[in-house]
Amino acid sequence: MRSTTIITKVNDWQKKLFYWHRSSRWLLPGTCLICMHPLVGERDLCKLCLKQLPHNTNACKFCAEPLTTKRQPPICNYCYQAPVAFDQAFAPWLYLPPYSQLIWEFKYTKNLAAGYLLLDLLFDSLAKKNKTYDYLLVIPGQKDRIKQRGYHAPTWLAKRLALLSDLTFFKQGLKRVKDIPSQQDLGRKARWLNPRGAFKAASEIAGKRVLLLDDVITTGATSHWAAEELKKQGALSVDLLATAKTPSKFKH
Ligand SMILES: [Zn+2]
Ligand SMILES: [Zn+2]
Repeated sequence: MRSTTIITKVNDWQKKLFYWHRSSRWLLPGTCLICMHPLVGERDLCKLCLKQLPHNTNACKFCAEPLTTKRQPPICNYCYQAPVAFDQAFAPWLYLPPYSQLIWEFKYTKNLAAGYLLLDLLFDSLAKKNKTYDYLLVIPGQKDRIKQRGYHAPTWLAKRLALLSDLTFFKQGLKRVKDIPSQQDLGRKARWLNPRGAFKAASEIAGKRVLLLDDVITTGATSHWAAEELKKQGALSVDLLATAKTPSKFKH
């Protein structure tokens, strides 16, 4: 009981510190990270560029794949044929330039200004959903890639998203038990099956509502197998949140 109290107090202080750090940005002049226009504000994005971000509004409600036609219910052909293991996916924007450039810089060059902007955008879109979760989890990265890049972008985002919101980040909720070969040169079916068996969920997940965070949803295969493992451990629901969705090469 005592340790729980201490942890709560530490988290409160961390939250306060984080809010102070975020609000102090109002005092300093900034630059829009997309058009490089000088601005003063809470975030490094001007109103015009925010409007022009590639919104993923007409998307499949299960996997976030953009749909080429309006349909009711909004479900893509893949999800009709083989439903994904997560319950819903939210990827408010498409992985298209210049937005994709921001993600790339954050992920591969550790541009933290871009990271904080992506964090704000994620927080805004999550707040609009108005859903409650017991745990926030990330898809664990591959050790060799984390070593190479020096950090893991989804974990960086998840820690701060938990400080901004009421979410509880459960770092050990999902573990990687197997590294998987690069997916890039594989065909669609092989890519889909590649991450199978790569994750192990913690037993505390049973009966919980989980929000799984990833940076970009490409095929959705990694998240599918991660969600499948969480469900196997008894997770009540698994939603997926990402900064962007890469549109599939295939028509829907
Ligand atoms: Zn701008
Ligand atoms: Zn779908």
